[in-house]
Amino acid sequence: MTSASCTHCHGPLPLPRRADMRYCSGSCRVLAARRRKAATAARVRSEQAAHIPAELRAKHRWVRHLNKRPTRCDLPRWASVRDPSTWSDHAAAAASTVGEGIGYVLTAGDGIVVVDLDHAVVDGELLPWARRIVDGLPPTYMERGRSGTGVHLWFRGSVSCGRRIRRGDVAVEWYSDGRYIVIGDRVPGTPLDLAELPDAAAAIASLV
Ligand SMILES: [Zn+2]
Repeated sequence: MTSASCTHCHGPLPLPRRADMRYCSGSCRVLAARRRKAATAARVRSEQAAHIPAELRAKHRWVRHLNKRPTRCDLPRWASVRDPSTWSDHAAAAASTVGEGIGYVLTAGDGIVVVDLDHAVVDGELLPWARRIVDGLPPTYMERGRSGTGVHLWFRGSVSCGRRIRRGDVAVEWYSDGRYIVIGDRVPGTPLDLAELPDAAAAIASLV
């Protein structure tokens, strides 16, 4: 049986009407479609959020990104990793449609270190040098960079300055300040917590 009221505004449907009429007007049909689209986007956002550690989501360190540069969530302007007034909370960044996706700013004093393995994945498998590093460090939150070939491992700890090792295939960097990380897809099965890594430099040096 067909409802006699508009699915969107619940106002009366005009007569005469087709049995399958659901909206009182074209604008109600458009608004209803828009609402469905927003609901879908919200569901996608909350699914993505569920794959980001709560301790990161709780911090006011979020930006968007466009063409590899950080952008503000609220304005179509560039953000700066040195200017907290250009950062947002996670909910605002996730809800924003500016740019291409979300990013997280690493800043001194937060005690978060990201170990970035570049060109580490081929055909969905970690290369041996990258596997050695991932297996040698404590299990922690890990996501795949947007390029699909990089991996980010997130730890609690800090480093006095960013470091990089390039040797043969090995391309590893780690940093805890003055950078932002484009958030990719969590590597399935990895923890939703950040492990402690008090001395990243020593730990990584022993693995490369
Ligand atoms: Zn209506």
